[in-house]
Amino acid sequence: MTENSKAPGFSNWSCPLPLADYPTIVMGHGGGGKLGNELVEHLFLPAFRNPALENLGDAAVFETAGARLAMSTDSFVVQPLFFPGGSIGDLAVNGTVNDLAVSGAEPKFLSASFILEEGFPLSQLAAIVGAMAKAAATARVQIVTGDTKVVERGHGDGCYITTAGVGVLRSNTAVGPKRAKSGDAVIVSGTIGDHGMAIMSVREGLEFESQIRSDCAALNGMIAEVLDGVGAAVHAMRDPTRGGLASTLNEIACSSDVGVALDEASIPVRPEVQSACELLGLDPIYVANEGKAVFFVAPEAAERVVEILRAHPLGKDAARIGHVTAEHKRMLVARTALGANRVIPTMIGEQLPRIC
Ligand code: MG
Repeated sequence: MTENSKAPGFSNWSCPLPLADYPTIVMGHGGGGKLGNELVEHLFLPAFRNPALENLGDAAVFETAGARLAMSTDSFVVQPLFFPGGSIGDLAVNGTVNDLAVSGAEPKFLSASFILEEGFPLSQLAAIVGAMAKAAATARVQIVTGDTKVVERGHGDGCYITTAGVGVLRSNTAVGPKRAKSGDAVIVSGTIGDHGMAIMSVREGLEFESQIRSDCAALNGMIAEVLDGVGAAVHAMRDPTRGGLASTLNEIACSSDVGVALDEASIPVRPEVQSACELLGLDPIYVANEGKAVFFVAPEAAERVVEILRAHPLGKDAARIGHVTAEHKRMLVARTALGANRVIPTMIGEQLPRIC
């Protein structure tokens, strides 16, 4: 082989960055991508291993004392604390409510823990707590326990919140991340990237004709209507938060050992979100959502699910965006607007730090 024939191909290409084996935590470990998954698989899972954890759902699902329950927890470190369409308080309630709802549970009780930095204005804390109370009332959950810790000035970033939630599994459903089947329709409940770009617009000082607002919302009411309508025809659900739609679809493809084929042109994206993404060099398919759900549904129920979603105020832009296939297992492949196919991998680290 001559030097020339060797040089340009992929055969002697090597990845410039090691993907694992970081001696210290990097920001990407919290980005909802591959690095975070590695922490779960190589550290948390071996240490804590049990059947409920092994499912790696948005919430753990288990049976105890005759009750079928779901339990979830999430920490919130978003910056800024207040943004168009919500605040860290709204995220803290809705994030946990949604993780329970997409696990097939009716969310019931939440805890809320606050880590506050010395000097944090009480007026801001009151606004956050007010937003949490309102979000809890809207989602019909109760915040029944909590904790407050304070760290010295300079050792925190104003306010961090951790919520946990417990829900009761609905009887008319059998969803799980491993249950997507070849032939299933993939449906998203609305436009993608709104939350991430609302935060980024504030951080970057971007201005558009219409302000980008976070989609932050509790989805349990909408999901209940879908499950009441088509029951066990829904095989899997997930809320595409950090890492966006791309990460969610890749995760379900891996968990269910199937391929996902996307029709890229059918994915709903607001024009202002698309413009903001283009300005910042981002792809909306990787940008976080806080009020959207993805459904994997038996094909015969797909039309009905889209109908039910579109009749709900939080699902009016719902669309069927692809299907599950036995081909290209554990991979997400999109047909682009130009008719070409492209593989969409899981993000390695993170695109946008501290987005939720
Ligand atoms: Mg989730």
